[in-house]
Amino acid sequence: VTRIHQMVARHAAERPTAPAMIDADGTRYDWAGYAAAIDAAAALLAAQGVGAGDRVLIVAENCFAVAATVMACSALDAWALPVNARMSPAEIDRIAAHAEPRAALYTSAVSKEAAAHAEAAGAQAMATAFGNVHVAALPGGAPEPVEEGPGQVAVILYTTGTTGAPKGVMLTHGNLIFAAGASRDLRNLVPDDHVYGALPLTHVFGLASMLMASAMTGCQVELATRFSAEALYQALKRGATVLPAVPQMHAVLMAYAAQHGHETLGSDRLRYVSSGAAPLDPAWKRKAEAFYGLPLQNGYGMTETTAGVSGTRNAIGDPDTSVGPPLPGVTVRLDESVGNEPGVGEVLTAGPHIMKGYYKNPEATAQALTADGFMRTGDLGRLDAEGRLHIVGRSKELIIRGGFNVYPPEVEAALNDHPAVVQSAVIGRKVAGGNEEVLAFCQITAPGAVEAETLGRFVAERLSGYKRPSRILIVDALPAAATGKILKHKLLETFAEALD
Ligand code: ATP
Ligand code: MG
Repeated sequence: VTRIHQMVARHAAERPTAPAMIDADGTRYDWAGYAAAIDAAAALLAAQGVGAGDRVLIVAENCFAVAATVMACSALDAWALPVNARMSPAEIDRIAAHAEPRAALYTSAVSKEAAAHAEAAGAQAMATAFGNVHVAALPGGAPEPVEEGPGQVAVILYTTGTTGAPKGVMLTHGNLIFAAGASRDLRNLVPDDHVYGALPLTHVFGLASMLMASAMTGCQVELATRFSAEALYQALKRGATVLPAVPQMHAVLMAYAAQHGHETLGSDRLRYVSSGAAPLDPAWKRKAEAFYGLPLQNGYGMTETTAGVSGTRNAIGDPDTSVGPPLPGVTVRLDESVGNEPGVGEVLTAGPHIMKGYYKNPEATAQALTADGFMRTGDLGRLDAEGRLHIVGRSKELIIRGGFNVYPPEVEAALNDHPAVVQSAVIGRKVAGGNEEVLAFCQITAPGAVEAETLGRFVAERLSGYKRPSRILIVDALPAAATGKILKHKLLETFAEALD
């Protein structure tokens, strides 16, 4: 296959009645139904004037229509632009102004945010073979040139925006097909698998590692519109076999299970659980493994690398805190001129997983991609004797205090060790004299479950003096993306009042 929709066409021809997708409302689609929905979506888009090289904005929360529309764009050689409906109108307008889509589709049936965006855009309600959606035809910019081979762009995906405004990443059919195969092989996905799909399809981890890997394998995905610990717990009890998630999802599920007295999951169907997209706290890993009765595999990647760069394949209880060796076909090296600790450097990676570039941003692309094809990840890491990669933090988030390096994930792990802490975020802030202070924000299990002073003493036993937070703030909720990843650049503005 050279186009992503051909993965679906192949299963539709070979196993038309095998299960492909369970929509958020419970509707089931087999592979023939999936292929028919792609045809219907392609016809709908074509009727809005979409042709090869046009961009199609998909204002989305998870449902079958997102999958059908992304694949339909492939059938038309158009570019899909899935963005999360929970973004503000201003954020979506900025993306639309930049990408100049020819049409927009809104998953209004599952998302009141998408419905509100659709109404503001004057989009039209439509009942389709893939659910009820809103659609708008737009003036659109000039079509992009089409490439016959794997270099044709399939999607523009936006980065999470952890460190600043999200960047539009062009991922090609070659990128997605490679990532789908790599992810299938890492997880040993088989057609009988039942993947639980809580990861947003608007994020690379959900789109590539979940949707594309399942389309490559021919296994079914059960889509969840929004992550809920309760719904996840029920789905696992009902027999989901594969769970890809971000660390925060595992943490919230652990908190839910503890509250309801479930010490272990007790499913004999679940066989593979993974964590990715953000640092995995070693204590969470241990807790989650005890709960699932399975190893928790840790995968490292980013939007610009079509998700997977590396991944672990450990047995349960393995104390390995690495993100595993590079995936087959992927090269990793360190640039030790970045960072100021021997053996630690910026992680650089090359291979068929590397993006084509940032859309309409050649300067940023030139900064991110080296002349010999390596992506500068902005992450600091080291490689161990077994060739496994360890991520110590992001170079942008490295705190230098009194000349010593403080890596936020290490401080966060110490805080998360406290039973009353659900999750935490640590950042540096410049103080007079050029030094940095360490600020910690903690979300706790219930109001009053723990005081900041108690947490301060708790981590003091675990961290050397220079790593201890200068201030710990207990907060109700941390600013987060749709995946659950914490948006660190929003912490200071969100809690400005409390910090003064
Ligand atoms: P932005 O680039 O907009 O600031 P972002 O980098 O968070 O946001 P993503 O592409 O979603 O956007 O995330 C990729 C980043 O997530 C990586 O660069 C790395 O910092 C982090 N990451 C991903 N997986 C892991 C992991 N297993 N362990 C540690 N960090 C991880
Ligand atoms: Mg990034």
